[in-house]
Amino acid sequence: MSGLIDQFGRTATDLRMSLVDKCNLRCRYCMPAEGLDWLEKNSLLAAHEAIRLADIAIRQLGVNEIRFTGGEPLVRADLVDIIGGIHALHPEVELSMTTNGINLERKIEDLVTAGLSRINVSLDTVCPETFAKITRRDRLTKVLTGLHAAKAAGLEPIKINAVLLRGINDHEATELLTWSLKHGYKLRFIEQMPLDADQKWKRANMVTAAEIRDQLSQTYTLSPHEMQRGSAPAELFNVRDPASEEVIGTVGIIASVTEPFCAECTRTRLTADAKVRSCLFSHQETDLLDLLRDGSSDDTIAAAWREAMWHKPRAHGQTKTGLGMPGFVQPQRTMSAIGG
Ligand code: SAM
Repeated sequence: MSGLIDQFGRTATDLRMSLVDKCNLRCRYCMPAEGLDWLEKNSLLAAHEAIRLADIAIRQLGVNEIRFTGGEPLVRADLVDIIGGIHALHPEVELSMTTNGINLERKIEDLVTAGLSRINVSLDTVCPETFAKITRRDRLTKVLTGLHAAKAAGLEPIKINAVLLRGINDHEATELLTWSLKHGYKLRFIEQMPLDADQKWKRANMVTAAEIRDQLSQTYTLSPHEMQRGSAPAELFNVRDPASEEVIGTVGIIASVTEPFCAECTRTRLTADAKVRSCLFSHQETDLLDLLRDGSSDDTIAAAWREAMWHKPRAHGQTKTGLGMPGFVQPQRTMSAIGG
């Protein structure tokens, strides 16, 4: 078996698989208020096709971890079938999901029974007004209920992904950390990336990892976590109580823009219409949907996937200087249409 190796010597073993482009929130850094032109239903991977691609990835391409994403994976009625189908074939592979948490309460038991082992819930604020401002929906309570249900179902760790936006929730980092520590959730801040539909992202306006560390350090003492970071995108810190200096939890910061980690990247991505993307910021995609549907063999599909990943760019945006710098061209697809 030859894996997903690229020309710069990296091997992708971690598959981000988008299952749908639709979402029931409209986060302003991700999707426009009016939504997007959704994929036709017959362009979406059917459950059996998603299971087949996951099987090829694991059996022939060395993938050892799959995270389902979207859009919002929970809007897929057959999510339990997809997870159950992959888990039945490969019980050794960790299956996780990134979700906004809405409707999680109703589905979590079945998902865990089907084989879901970990979850990341996106939550940028615990203030209802700020939540409505960012997501353009008044649904914070549903997300919190979903989070509590995931905990009750025994998922551990439960990670929270948070994006800070200048002038909206950039002052709420500490409040979110305090809340996460209290509930036992592992918080990770993600720097906002230029993947918004409105193309309003400006490097000069984003909240940087350095700023986030500074803000948290006004209340807590942060020290580097002892765990080797490896290919994990988040830089992890121990959070110490300022009075006792005792470690009371951890916080992660994913500095994709200001401190990119492309050299360590182990990800391969599939969009909900089965396009391989070797990088979030690629302008090239390789279609697997036609191959899935024209009778091509698993070997042919695996070869096309390998070829796509061989051309993975050395770094985000294929510029030497980074995201938003001269030469950078934002990809057509938004984060929701790629799968974050
Ligand atoms: N709907 C699911 C959710 O909310 O988690 C999964 C899809 S969402 C696109 C996946 C992750 O991407 C979320 O944590 C979200 O905050 C993050 N995201 C979306 N747009 C982003 C951007 N422009 N910069 C950084 N992170 C972004």
